[in-house]
Amino acid sequence: MLKINNLHAQIEEGVEILKGINLEIKPGEIHAIMGPNGAGKSTLSSVIAGKEDYEITEGEILFEGENIIEDSPEDRAHKGIFMSFQYPIEIPGVSVMNFMKAAINETRKANGQESMPAKEMLALVREKTEKLEIKKEFLARSLNEGFSGGEKKRNEILQMMMLNPKLAILDETDSGLDIDALRIVADGVNTFKNEGNAVLLITHYQRLLDYIEPDFVHVLADGKIIKTGDKSLALELEEKGYDWLLN
Ligand code: ADP
Ligand code: MG
Ligand code: MG
Repeated sequence: MLKINNLHAQIEEGVEILKGINLEIKPGEIHAIMGPNGAGKSTLSSVIAGKEDYEITEGEILFEGENIIEDSPEDRAHKGIFMSFQYPIEIPGVSVMNFMKAAINETRKANGQESMPAKEMLALVREKTEKLEIKKEFLARSLNEGFSGGEKKRNEILQMMMLNPKLAILDETDSGLDIDALRIVADGVNTFKNEGNAVLLITHYQRLLDYIEPDFVHVLADGKIIKTGDKSLALELEEKGYDWLLN
């Protein structure tokens, strides 16, 4: 599904952040990326999603066999790449429901499909909100306006489940993940996951991996993947930290 070959990216001339990343994600897999602060984890997720702050100087990102490096973030989203944001934007006046509707119908349009019939949309949102224990009133709120940390997470996971992407990238960084938020993310990912899709979970905390079982754990340090293992690697990192892997 996703194949990254020798990816180098820089923030400005000469300041390289990703220094030759190789990563392959197949359908049905959950990959976790861990690593010290400043390693380039968020940069990697932004570069896959197509955020324009970074310049790719070498390498390729293949999604379903096609190099997507020249694609806009919107094109990538339409192809089935979903990325959660660490700092979600607020859109006063646009409700959670209308935002999702627009996102779903834009994606369908970009793929040559008709808008989703209202009845189908309603059934879908009912199914997903029930799973996530989201109250109906939540759907009418302005997007992210005054949302608590847990509500932001819930909204993010709801969006992911409604859009049903092929690849979901979740960058769960340091801040704001209390135990409730952790469970929302974990339950959401576990419900979303099937044999046809894949998840790239970026996290600072081993704790999240108590609830989400990754097939692969990668350690990213100084712009490179320096070790790959299974979920036992996460436990080892929890115990020993990162120092034993560095230099
Ligand atoms: P991580 O998510 O692993 O903590 P980041 O990808 O956020 O790491 O950052 C990697 C390095 O790149 C850090 O040294 C950070 O300061 C730098 N960096 C990332 N994005 C920017 C940016 N937009 N401007 C300047 N420096 C950046
Ligand atoms: Mg960081
Ligand atoms: Mg980060």
